[in-house]
Amino acid sequence: MANVRATEDRSGDVARGVAAELADLYRYARSITANDADAEDLVGDTVVRALERASQYRGEASLRTWLHRILYHLAVDRARHHAHELSEADVEARWRDDAYSVDAEVVVERAESAAELRDALVRLPSHYRSAVVLHDAEGFTAAEVADVLGVSLPAAKQRIRRGRMMLVSALSRQEERRTANAGIPLSCWEAREQVSSYIDGELEDPERAALEAHLVGCATCPPLYQALVGATTSLGDHDPDTVIPAALADRVRRHLGLEAPDRALDPVSESGSPEELPG
Ligand SMILES: [Zn+2]
Repeated sequence: MANVRATEDRSGDVARGVAAELADLYRYARSITANDADAEDLVGDTVVRALERASQYRGEASLRTWLHRILYHLAVDRARHHAHELSEADVEARWRDDAYSVDAEVVVERAESAAELRDALVRLPSHYRSAVVLHDAEGFTAAEVADVLGVSLPAAKQRIRRGRMMLVSALSRQEERRTANAGIPLSCWEAREQVSSYIDGELEDPERAALEAHLVGCATCPPLYQALVGATTSLGDHDPDTVIPAALADRVRRHLGLEAPDRALDPVSESGSPEELPG
């Protein structure tokens, strides 16, 4: 039971948390939107919503999780279904086809280009996009992803697994490879379903051995595996130069009632924003 004093304390926590998480929230928003203007709107609205609901924050989830959850739900609310969006059924049908593969080099090269990666990410349905970005780019655990998305742990893992497959298919575009396969352990689909867990080091020894044997003998899975590893790794290479845009920083600073530039907003104060308040 929260008394008035505890509520006030929480509001202070939320304001401080927003300032501390701003760079991460902006990077997450950029990864799940098609352009920077949408990302800035999303972060601005997240800040407003968080401050409005500060008294509802009970500290059950970490502030980081709570703030990302608000941003996620705002993003889902405004997500439009785009004609170019991949269908889960289509992607799964492709990955279930033993003859389906991709050119891993092309996929990995595209994943290393920020623009290509963003174009590919926005083709994922939003709940898959957020699962992959939070887990592979923002370093959330599967349990934290489940918390942000409001789903069970198995459902979160499923979204990460399918999201990675969709990302590789989006990056591969038309350059798919179709190669005949020989008789080897596991069906390709069984192997492909397990590859995400393999990457995350979650397979038991016998399963890992079977998967490795499959990869040795299979003509189509190794490029998919390489593409998954490469795309996942590129996603994890944080852009160290992410700078919060001046207009967004000003907006957030006003909402937070900060009288001096906050440490989290330093990149902007160093750039000499004219609207900067005196310290
Ligand atoms: Zn295979």
